[in-house]
Amino acid sequence: MTDSANPDQYGLIGHPVEHSWSPFIHGMFAKESNQNLVYRLYDFEPPQFRRETLRLFAGGIKGLNITLPHKEAAAELVNVLTPRASRAQAVNTIMFRDDSSLLGDNTDGIGLTRDLAGNLGLELARKRILILGAGGATRGILAPLLERGPTALIIANRTVARAAALVMAFKDMGPISSCGFSDIEGPPYDLIVNATSASLQGQMPELPPGLVSEDTVCYDLAYGRGHTPFTMWAKTLYAGRICKGWGMLVEQAAEAFELWRGVRPNTHTVLEALTRKT
Ligand code: NDP
Repeated sequence: MTDSANPDQYGLIGHPVEHSWSPFIHGMFAKESNQNLVYRLYDFEPPQFRRETLRLFAGGIKGLNITLPHKEAAAELVNVLTPRASRAQAVNTIMFRDDSSLLGDNTDGIGLTRDLAGNLGLELARKRILILGAGGATRGILAPLLERGPTALIIANRTVARAAALVMAFKDMGPISSCGFSDIEGPPYDLIVNATSASLQGQMPELPPGLVSEDTVCYDLAYGRGHTPFTMWAKTLYAGRICKGWGMLVEQAAEAFELWRGVRPNTHTVLEALTRKT
């Protein structure tokens, strides 16, 4: 129980975090479902992460979302992992439990597949998928994508060893392989997911030709106003459909909100509001 003068506290830890729409999203969820909470942003660099996160929980915060570059460190920090976070070894949601333990969950994968399959109506079975990037977000989305039965899932990353390590961790789940950006081979993919953080730096990795056709869906996990370098790349290659990560952002947030509050928020009104704003 909370009284209105002392709302429950939640927040997002990352570096950087100033681009985040999570306070807006959780604020709308809370308003629409009559939940008394506040949601703040915390910018901590990796050396501060562990100490500051534990300090926030000691100070009474009830739950945290975790964004780049801390998701793997968060998996090491918590006391208990949900099965999907354990599979990913990456955590984007932490809940403070009644017994004072910290539960780590990963809602990125369910957020992406809810957006792809539910909001965008995409069928992923028997499709060829290319993922750019092998960081914390990729760790979270691999299992739910492989569960949908693609013909092939290729992870391409700047640091090839990081992509290869993910293949080792997930190869029991389906046809997964890894390579560097310059070694990606065609024919064009059904779905290309940009899970690098290059868009945040205004960059796009250099990729070989022949990866995109008029049937390719290009999905950037990054979001923001206007085109990202990745969506601009897709546009110049006449990709069939180009999406940014707004839907995933709202869906993964809804999953975290439900874990924390036991209430399933309506994602459609929030997504509409974000689309109007951006
Ligand atoms: P991480 O920091 O864990 O990983 C970053 C990844 O990007 C690594 O694979 C890294 O390669 C690669 N990378 C970074 N800079 C470049 C560059 N200049 N050129 C090529 N590759 C680069 O980040 P996350 O995995 O947590 O997040 C990735 C992206 O996904 C971010 O943009 C984030 O905002 C977005 N995201 C969106 C969500 C949503 O709900 N829409 C949810 C989660 C994430 P290397 O291994 O070589 O360093």
